[in-house]
Amino acid sequence: MSYVDEVIARVVKENPNEPEFHQAVKEVLNSLRPVVDANEEKFRRDAVLERIVNPERQLKFRVSWVDDNGQVQVNTGYRVQFNSAIGPYKGGLRLHPSVNLGIIKFLGFEQIFKNSLTGLPIGGGKGGSDFDPKGKSDREVMAFCQSFMTELCKYIGADTDVPAGDIGTGAREIGYMFGQYKRIRGLYEGVLTGKGLSYGGSLARKEATGYGLLYIVQEMLKCHNDTLEGKTVIVSGAGNVATYAIEKAYQLGGKPVTCSDSTGWVYDPDGIDLAALKEIKEVKRARLTEYRNYRPNAEYHEGRGVWSVKADIALPCATQNELNLDDAKTLVANGCKVVAEGANMPTTQEATDYLQENGIIFLPGKAANAGGVATSALEMSQNSERLSWSFDEVDKKLQGIMANIYHNIDNAAKKYGFEGNYVVGANIAGFEKVVDAMQAQGIV
Ligand code: NDP
Repeated sequence: MSYVDEVIARVVKENPNEPEFHQAVKEVLNSLRPVVDANEEKFRRDAVLERIVNPERQLKFRVSWVDDNGQVQVNTGYRVQFNSAIGPYKGGLRLHPSVNLGIIKFLGFEQIFKNSLTGLPIGGGKGGSDFDPKGKSDREVMAFCQSFMTELCKYIGADTDVPAGDIGTGAREIGYMFGQYKRIRGLYEGVLTGKGLSYGGSLARKEATGYGLLYIVQEMLKCHNDTLEGKTVIVSGAGNVATYAIEKAYQLGGKPVTCSDSTGWVYDPDGIDLAALKEIKEVKRARLTEYRNYRPNAEYHEGRGVWSVKADIALPCATQNELNLDDAKTLVANGCKVVAEGANMPTTQEATDYLQENGIIFLPGKAANAGGVATSALEMSQNSERLSWSFDEVDKKLQGIMANIYHNIDNAAKKYGFEGNYVVGANIAGFEKVVDAMQAQGIV
């Protein structure tokens, strides 16, 4: 059995009931075969793969809080500090009922390579809770966030572990958590990113993941002598990533025609009304069913179906495994040319394989959505020097980072004979830097 296969088998055996974690490990390790095979003896002796698939530390804790009826509620909190070879742990906090240890481990594992690709000094981590902020009052959300941070604050800090937002954790939640951290630790420091502008947040952080996604697509198209001008774009999700992907798609000349949430999806043939979307989701925190009140000509459908709309470019921006093999077949049949992942692992392995085998240009999330964490690292830099940069300054850096990521993954794919395979390119480019740092630091 090859070294890669041995480690995959061990991960599956030692981490039962964590299918998403298995999926992420298999995808990464399978595409690292050319590098691992070339260094097998040394990597085996140093147990490089066993170390990289094992989190340095994983925390699981009780989060008790009182709801508006005086009833005590109990949730589970997690923080997985996966790999600190190249910098302090960095990665978001997901608040969603589907959260469990396996989900956090898959996200933390992906984060190691994503953070490495940004070229910035940040290690990989992820956290969250099965708490659902939907339908809760502001006071209940605050009570949860304060209880969550009361425990988490013992393990994080501006130079050790810097969490950020993710699904269900937006500006409101980050604000409550920051307030509680400061209150308990007595430290006004950049311990969280995605903060409000009045207390240490960075301009352009809110927009960064969606904007970055479009910047990398733009750079890739440029290298294929093409542009976004006049392209129809289908987007899933209606949260932070989707909203700002839609905004930037318009700015670069594209026409985004769909968005979705967990109850349904919208097809607006005239192009998504961005102001309406922001009002529904960012102001009212309402469902997409409201969209037709703003645009009576748009279609609203219950369930899922974004990928059935004919388009040039598909941007999955909601959640993991939301684009399956049947969806991939539909995209190919409809003449789609590019799939770029705004969400983390939104495409199943079978769908990814099918898209790549059928000539679709596929940009994996760990490269395509790295703009968010990259800008979080820029927020950390601003906090450290106690300065705030202008929107343009941050946005220009973000554009440069995304273009660099594209060239790095393109070059890594070419170097190992997989030209155009950006999954292989992203995994290898991300892995090489982390392994180099791990080996330099000895057996830890
Ligand atoms: P938000 O919570 O702002 O939005 C998530 C969107 O996806 C919502 O429209 C939500 O609908 C939908 N969604 C979530 N879960 C499901 C589900 N199980 N089925 C169907 N739809 C679902 O999150 P973000 O936009 O921040 O994150 C989206 C994705 O991007 C995630 O995979 C995240 O890990 C990834 N990401 C985010 C970054 C960031 O900077 N925010 C950075 C890099 C990656 P509803 O509201 O109805 O639940």
